[in-house]
Amino acid sequence: MNSQPITSLLKTGRPIKSLEFFPPKSEDDTRRLFLAASRLKEFAPDFVSVTYGAGGSTRQLTQGITARLQKELGWLMMPHLTCVGSTKDELKDIIQAFHNEGFRNIMTLRGDPPNGQTKFVATKDGFRYASDLVGFIKSHFPDICMGVAGYPDKHPESPSLEEDIKHLKFKVDQGGDFITTQLFYDNQLYFEYVEKLRVLGIDKPVLPGILPVLNVAQVQRFGITLPEALNQKLQAAGDEKAAQQQVGVEWAVDQIAELLDHGAPGVHLYIMNMSKSALGILEGLRSKGHFLD
Ligand SMILES: Cc1cc2nc3c(=O)[nH]c(=O)nc-3n(C[C@H](O)[C@H](O)[C@H](O)COP(=O)(O)OP(=O)(O)OC[C@H]3O[C@@H](n4cnc5c(N)ncnc54)[C@H](O)[C@@H]3O)c2cc1C
Repeated sequence: MNSQPITSLLKTGRPIKSLEFFPPKSEDDTRRLFLAASRLKEFAPDFVSVTYGAGGSTRQLTQGITARLQKELGWLMMPHLTCVGSTKDELKDIIQAFHNEGFRNIMTLRGDPPNGQTKFVATKDGFRYASDLVGFIKSHFPDICMGVAGYPDKHPESPSLEEDIKHLKFKVDQGGDFITTQLFYDNQLYFEYVEKLRVLGIDKPVLPGILPVLNVAQVQRFGITLPEALNQKLQAAGDEKAAQQQVGVEWAVDQIAELLDHGAPGVHLYIMNMSKSALGILEGLRSKGHFLD
Protein backbone atom coordinates (compact mmCIF):
# COMPACT_ATOMS: atom_id res chain seq x y z
CA MET A 1 0.00 0.00 0.00
CA ASN A 2 1.27 3.44 -0.93
CA SER A 3 1.21 5.56 2.25
CA GLN A 4 3.70 8.16 1.09
CA PRO A 5 3.01 11.67 2.40
CA ILE A 6 2.13 13.98 -0.48
CA THR A 7 4.63 16.51 0.88
CA SER A 8 7.43 14.12 -0.04
CA LEU A 9 6.21 14.16 -3.67
CA LEU A 10 6.00 17.93 -3.63
CA LYS A 11 9.54 18.19 -2.24
CA THR A 12 11.01 16.47 -5.30
CA GLY A 13 10.32 19.62 -7.34
CA ARG A 14 8.87 17.46 -10.14
CA PRO A 15 5.43 18.82 -11.13
CA ILE A 16 2.70 16.53 -9.88
CA LYS A 17 -0.70 15.74 -11.37
CA SER A 18 -3.60 14.68 -9.21
CA LEU A 19 -7.28 13.92 -9.66
CA GLU A 20 -10.41 14.38 -7.59
CA PHE A 21 -13.43 12.08 -7.50
CA PHE A 22 -16.68 12.50 -5.61
CA PRO A 23 -18.63 9.60 -4.06
CA PRO A 24 -21.30 8.38 -6.50
CA LYS A 25 -24.93 8.15 -5.40
CA SER A 26 -26.10 5.05 -7.26
CA GLU A 27 -24.76 1.68 -8.35
CA ASP A 28 -24.76 2.84 -11.98
CA ASP A 29 -22.74 5.91 -11.07
CA THR A 30 -20.33 3.71 -9.11
CA ARG A 31 -19.84 1.48 -12.15
CA ARG A 32 -19.20 4.57 -14.28
CA LEU A 33 -16.69 5.89 -11.74
CA PHE A 34 -14.65 2.69 -11.78
CA LEU A 35 -14.79 2.54 -15.58
CA ALA A 36 -13.42 6.10 -15.69
CA ALA A 37 -10.82 5.18 -13.07
CA SER A 38 -9.58 2.22 -15.11
CA ARG A 39 -9.22 4.49 -18.18
CA LEU A 40 -7.34 6.98 -16.01
CA LYS A 41 -4.59 4.46 -15.25
CA GLU A 42 -2.96 5.98 -18.32
CA PHE A 43 -3.08 9.39 -16.62
CA ALA A 44 -0.88 7.96 -13.83
CA PRO A 45 -1.98 10.43 -11.14
CA ASP A 46 0.52 11.14 -8.36
CA PHE A 47 -2.38 11.09 -5.94
CA VAL A 48 -6.15 10.89 -6.04
CA SER A 49 -8.55 12.53 -3.63
CA VAL A 50 -12.17 11.66 -2.80
CA THR A 51 -14.50 14.36 -1.54
CA TYR A 52 -16.61 14.18 1.60
CA GLY A 53 -20.24 14.96 0.74
CA ALA A 54 -21.81 18.25 1.73
CA GLY A 55 -23.12 18.03 5.25
CA GLY A 56 -20.88 15.04 5.96
CA SER A 57 -23.47 12.95 4.13
CA THR A 58 -21.11 10.56 2.37
CA ARG A 59 -18.82 9.45 5.15
CA GLN A 60 -19.15 5.70 4.48
CA LEU A 61 -19.07 6.21 0.72
CA THR A 62 -15.92 8.34 0.89
CA GLN A 63 -14.24 5.67 2.99
CA GLY A 64 -15.43 2.84 0.72
CA ILE A 65 -14.44 4.52 -2.58
CA THR A 66 -11.07 5.60 -1.20
CA ALA A 67 -10.25 2.06 -0.06
CA ARG A 68 -11.47 0.48 -3.31
CA LEU A 69 -9.55 2.87 -5.58
CA GLN A 70 -6.43 2.21 -3.52
CA LYS A 71 -6.89 -1.54 -3.73
CA GLU A 72 -7.88 -1.81 -7.39
CA LEU A 73 -5.72 0.90 -8.94
CA GLY A 74 -2.89 1.05 -6.40
CA TRP A 75 -3.13 4.86 -6.31
CA LEU A 76 -1.90 7.06 -3.49
CA MET A 77 -5.19 8.20 -1.98
CA MET A 78 -6.20 11.28 -0.03
CA PRO A 79 -9.71 11.16 1.46
CA HIS A 80 -11.35 14.49 2.30
CA LEU A 81 -12.75 15.07 5.79
CA THR A 82 -14.95 17.89 7.05
CA CYS A 83 -16.05 19.10 10.48
CA VAL A 84 -19.73 18.97 9.49
CA GLY A 85 -22.04 16.84 11.59
CA SER A 86 -19.38 15.08 13.69
CA THR A 87 -18.16 15.50 17.24
CA LYS A 88 -14.44 15.52 18.02
CA ASP A 89 -14.67 11.91 19.21
CA GLU A 90 -16.43 10.82 16.03
CA LEU A 91 -13.84 12.61 13.89
CA LYS A 92 -11.09 10.91 15.87
CA ASP A 93 -12.66 7.51 15.13
CA ILE A 94 -12.89 8.29 11.40
CA ILE A 95 -9.26 9.42 11.25
CA GLN A 96 -8.17 6.40 13.28
CA ALA A 97 -9.98 4.12 10.80
CA PHE A 98 -8.15 5.76 7.87
CA HIS A 99 -4.88 5.50 9.78
CA ASN A 100 -5.45 1.81 10.55
CA GLU A 101 -6.00 1.16 6.84
CA GLY A 102 -2.67 2.80 6.06
CA PHE A 103 -3.81 6.20 4.75
CA ARG A 104 -1.46 9.03 5.70
CA ASN A 105 -2.91 11.94 3.71
CA ILE A 106 -6.14 13.80 4.52
CA MET A 107 -7.66 16.86 2.84
CA THR A 108 -8.78 18.69 5.97
CA LEU A 109 -11.78 21.00 5.65
CA ARG A 110 -14.51 22.76 7.54
CA GLY A 111 -17.12 21.80 4.95
CA ASP A 112 -20.17 23.56 3.63
CA PRO A 113 -23.40 23.77 5.65
CA PRO A 114 -25.78 20.82 5.09
CA ASN A 115 -28.38 21.22 2.32
CA GLY A 116 -31.06 23.73 3.19
CA GLN A 117 -28.82 25.68 5.61
CA THR A 118 -27.01 28.81 4.60
CA LYS A 119 -24.85 29.39 7.65
CA PHE A 120 -22.26 27.02 9.04
CA VAL A 121 -23.06 26.01 12.60
CA ALA A 122 -20.50 23.96 14.49
CA THR A 123 -21.72 20.59 15.76
CA LYS A 124 -21.96 20.38 19.55
CA ASP A 125 -18.57 19.08 20.76
CA GLY A 126 -17.27 19.50 17.21
CA PHE A 127 -15.11 22.06 15.44
CA ARG A 128 -15.87 25.55 14.10
CA TYR A 129 -13.05 26.02 11.58
CA ALA A 130 -10.87 23.77 9.46
CA SER A 131 -7.88 25.09 11.44
CA ASP A 132 -9.36 23.47 14.60
CA LEU A 133 -9.49 20.09 12.85
CA VAL A 134 -6.00 20.58 11.42
CA GLY A 135 -4.59 21.26 14.91
CA PHE A 136 -6.48 18.25 16.30
CA ILE A 137 -5.11 15.89 13.64
CA LYS A 138 -1.61 17.29 14.09
CA SER A 139 -1.66 16.57 17.83
CA HIS A 140 -3.25 13.09 17.64
CA PHE A 141 -1.88 11.81 14.32
CA PRO A 142 1.39 13.67 13.69
CA ASP A 143 2.35 11.38 10.79
CA ILE A 144 -0.66 12.43 8.71
CA CYS A 145 0.05 14.89 5.90
CA MET A 146 -2.72 17.46 5.51
CA GLY A 147 -3.94 19.35 2.47
CA VAL A 148 -6.00 22.47 3.22
CA ALA A 149 -8.22 24.63 1.00
CA GLY A 150 -7.25 28.05 -0.37
CA TYR A 151 -9.36 30.53 -2.33
CA PRO A 152 -7.60 32.78 -4.89
CA ASP A 153 -10.92 34.59 -5.36
CA LYS A 154 -11.47 34.62 -1.54
CA HIS A 155 -13.81 32.33 0.38
CA PRO A 156 -17.40 33.48 -0.23
CA GLU A 157 -18.06 34.07 3.48
CA SER A 158 -14.94 36.13 4.01
CA PRO A 159 -15.25 39.94 4.10
CA SER A 160 -11.96 40.31 2.19
CA LEU A 161 -9.15 38.31 0.62
CA GLU A 162 -6.74 39.73 3.21
CA GLU A 163 -8.92 38.48 6.08
CA ASP A 164 -9.25 35.08 4.41
CA ILE A 165 -5.49 34.77 3.92
CA LYS A 166 -4.92 35.69 7.58
CA HIS A 167 -7.07 32.69 8.56
CA LEU A 168 -5.29 30.51 6.00
CA LYS A 169 -2.00 31.45 7.67
CA PHE A 170 -3.34 30.24 11.00
CA LYS A 171 -4.61 27.00 9.37
CA VAL A 172 -1.16 26.36 7.91
CA ASP A 173 0.54 27.22 11.22
CA GLN A 174 -1.70 24.64 12.91
CA GLY A 175 -0.25 21.95 10.64
CA GLY A 176 -1.51 22.31 7.05
CA ASP A 177 1.19 20.88 4.80
CA PHE A 178 0.04 22.10 1.39
CA ILE A 179 -2.76 24.15 -0.09
CA THR A 180 -5.10 23.08 -2.90
CA THR A 181 -7.00 25.94 -4.47
CA GLN A 182 -10.61 26.38 -5.38
CA LEU A 183 -11.08 26.25 -9.14
CA PHE A 184 -10.29 29.34 -11.22
CA TYR A 185 -10.01 30.14 -14.94
CA ASP A 186 -7.81 33.23 -14.81
CA ASN A 187 -4.20 32.48 -13.89
CA GLN A 188 -3.59 36.04 -12.77
CA LEU A 189 -5.76 35.31 -9.71
CA TYR A 190 -3.47 32.41 -8.78
CA PHE A 191 -0.21 34.30 -9.35
CA GLU A 192 -1.35 37.27 -7.25
CA TYR A 193 -2.69 34.96 -4.55
CA VAL A 194 0.56 33.02 -4.21
CA GLU A 195 2.48 36.30 -4.05
CA LYS A 196 0.25 37.51 -1.19
CA LEU A 197 0.71 34.22 0.69
CA ARG A 198 4.50 34.44 0.36
CA VAL A 199 4.52 38.03 1.65
CA LEU A 200 2.65 36.82 4.74
CA GLY A 201 5.18 34.04 5.26
CA ILE A 202 3.03 31.14 4.01
CA ASP A 203 5.67 29.09 2.25
CA LYS A 204 3.73 25.84 1.61
CA PRO A 205 3.15 24.52 -1.92
CA VAL A 206 -0.04 25.88 -3.53
CA LEU A 207 -1.50 23.28 -5.89
CA PRO A 208 -3.83 24.91 -8.41
CA GLY A 209 -7.25 23.24 -8.70
CA ILE A 210 -8.58 23.23 -12.26
CA LEU A 211 -12.02 22.18 -13.49
CA PRO A 212 -12.07 21.82 -17.27
CA VAL A 213 -15.32 23.27 -18.62
CA LEU A 214 -17.42 20.37 -19.88
CA ASN A 215 -20.31 22.43 -21.17
CA VAL A 216 -21.94 25.81 -20.71
CA ALA A 217 -24.77 24.42 -18.53
CA GLN A 218 -22.26 23.06 -16.00
CA VAL A 219 -20.63 26.47 -15.64
CA GLN A 220 -23.99 28.18 -15.27
CA ARG A 221 -24.98 25.65 -12.57
CA PHE A 222 -21.85 26.50 -10.56
CA GLY A 223 -22.54 30.23 -10.94
CA ILE A 224 -18.97 30.83 -12.13
CA THR A 225 -18.01 33.96 -14.03
CA LEU A 226 -15.74 32.99 -16.89
CA PRO A 227 -13.07 35.17 -18.48
CA GLU A 228 -14.51 36.92 -21.55
CA ALA A 229 -12.09 35.11 -23.91
CA LEU A 230 -13.27 31.69 -22.69
CA ASN A 231 -16.88 32.79 -22.85
CA GLN A 232 -16.46 33.83 -26.47
CA LYS A 233 -14.82 30.52 -27.40
CA LEU A 234 -17.70 28.62 -25.77
CA GLN A 235 -20.27 30.74 -27.59
CA ALA A 236 -18.45 30.09 -30.87
CA ALA A 237 -18.59 26.34 -30.18
CA GLY A 238 -22.38 26.49 -30.43
CA ASP A 239 -24.78 24.05 -28.77
CA GLU A 240 -22.82 20.89 -29.30
CA LYS A 241 -21.48 19.51 -26.02
CA ALA A 242 -18.48 17.79 -27.64
CA ALA A 243 -17.36 21.09 -29.18
CA GLN A 244 -17.81 22.90 -25.84
CA GLN A 245 -15.81 20.18 -24.08
CA GLN A 246 -13.03 20.58 -26.64
CA VAL A 247 -12.90 24.30 -25.84
CA GLY A 248 -12.74 23.42 -22.12
CA VAL A 249 -9.85 21.00 -22.67
CA GLU A 250 -7.88 23.47 -24.82
CA TRP A 251 -8.39 26.26 -22.28
CA ALA A 252 -7.27 23.99 -19.43
CA VAL A 253 -4.17 22.89 -21.37
CA ASP A 254 -3.10 26.50 -21.98
CA GLN A 255 -3.95 27.48 -18.43
CA ILE A 256 -2.03 24.60 -16.82
CA ALA A 257 0.96 24.96 -19.15
CA GLU A 258 1.27 28.62 -18.13
CA LEU A 259 0.92 27.74 -14.43
CA LEU A 260 3.66 25.10 -14.69
CA ASP A 261 5.91 27.43 -16.72
CA HIS A 262 5.60 29.95 -13.88
CA GLY A 263 6.51 27.51 -11.11
CA ALA A 264 3.21 25.98 -9.94
CA PRO A 265 4.01 22.69 -8.17
CA GLY A 266 1.62 20.71 -10.40
CA VAL A 267 -2.11 20.56 -11.01
CA HIS A 268 -5.12 19.07 -9.25
CA LEU A 269 -7.91 18.26 -11.72
CA TYR A 270 -11.56 18.27 -10.70
CA ILE A 271 -12.77 15.65 -13.17
CA MET A 272 -16.43 15.12 -12.16
CA ASN A 273 -15.78 11.34 -12.18
CA MET A 274 -15.06 11.34 -15.93
CA SER A 275 -11.93 10.40 -17.82
CA LYS A 276 -12.13 12.00 -21.27
CA SER A 277 -11.17 15.60 -20.43
CA ALA A 278 -8.35 14.56 -18.11
CA LEU A 279 -6.81 12.34 -20.78
CA GLY A 280 -7.24 15.07 -23.40
CA ILE A 281 -5.56 17.57 -21.09
CA LEU A 282 -2.64 15.22 -20.45
CA GLU A 283 -2.16 14.71 -24.19
CA GLY A 284 -2.25 18.47 -24.77
CA LEU A 285 0.24 19.13 -21.97
CA ARG A 286 2.59 16.46 -23.31
CA SER A 287 2.52 18.11 -26.72
CA LYS A 288 3.76 21.24 -24.93
CA GLY A 289 6.57 19.34 -23.20
CA HIS A 290 4.98 18.78 -19.77
CA PHE A 291 4.55 15.47 -17.93
CA LEU A 292 6.63 13.55 -20.47
CA ASP A 293 7.93 10.96 -17.97
C1 LIG B 1 -9.70 21.88 -2.72
C2 LIG B 1 -11.05 21.90 -2.03
C3 LIG B 1 -11.65 20.71 -1.67
C4 LIG B 1 -12.91 20.70 -1.04
N1 LIG B 1 -13.50 19.52 -0.70
C5 LIG B 1 -14.68 19.51 -0.04
C6 LIG B 1 -15.29 18.29 0.40
O1 LIG B 1 -14.76 17.20 0.16
N2 LIG B 1 -16.47 18.36 1.08
C7 LIG B 1 -17.08 19.56 1.36
O2 LIG B 1 -18.14 19.56 2.01
N3 LIG B 1 -16.53 20.71 0.97
C8 LIG B 1 -15.35 20.73 0.28
N4 LIG B 1 -14.79 21.93 -0.10
C9 LIG B 1 -15.52 23.18 0.15
C10 LIG B 1 -15.23 23.72 1.57
O3 LIG B 1 -15.66 22.82 2.55
C11 LIG B 1 -15.99 25.04 1.69
O4 LIG B 1 -15.46 26.01 0.85
C12 LIG B 1 -16.18 25.56 3.11
O5 LIG B 1 -17.13 26.61 3.05
C13 LIG B 1 -14.91 26.11 3.76
O6 LIG B 1 -14.04 25.09 4.09
P1 LIG B 1 -12.55 25.45 4.57
O7 LIG B 1 -11.91 24.18 4.92
O8 LIG B 1 -11.90 26.32 3.56
O9 LIG B 1 -12.90 26.30 5.89
P2 LIG B 1 -12.08 27.31 6.81
O10 LIG B 1 -10.65 27.31 6.51
O11 LIG B 1 -12.51 27.02 8.20
O12 LIG B 1 -12.67 28.72 6.35
C14 LIG B 1 -14.07 28.96 6.32
C15 LIG B 1 -14.35 30.44 6.45
O13 LIG B 1 -14.09 30.85 7.80
C16 LIG B 1 -13.10 31.89 7.82
N5 LIG B 1 -12.27 31.65 9.01
C17 LIG B 1 -11.37 30.67 9.19
N6 LIG B 1 -10.84 30.75 10.44
C18 LIG B 1 -11.46 31.80 11.05
C19 LIG B 1 -11.38 32.37 12.35
N7 LIG B 1 -10.53 31.89 13.27
N8 LIG B 1 -12.16 33.44 12.64
C20 LIG B 1 -13.03 33.95 11.72
N9 LIG B 1 -13.15 33.44 10.47
C21 LIG B 1 -12.38 32.37 10.14
C22 LIG B 1 -12.36 31.77 6.50
O14 LIG B 1 -11.77 33.01 6.11
C23 LIG B 1 -13.47 31.34 5.57
O15 LIG B 1 -14.24 32.43 5.17
C24 LIG B 1 -13.55 21.95 -0.75
C25 LIG B 1 -12.93 23.15 -1.12
C26 LIG B 1 -11.69 23.14 -1.76
C27 LIG B 1 -11.04 24.44 -2.17
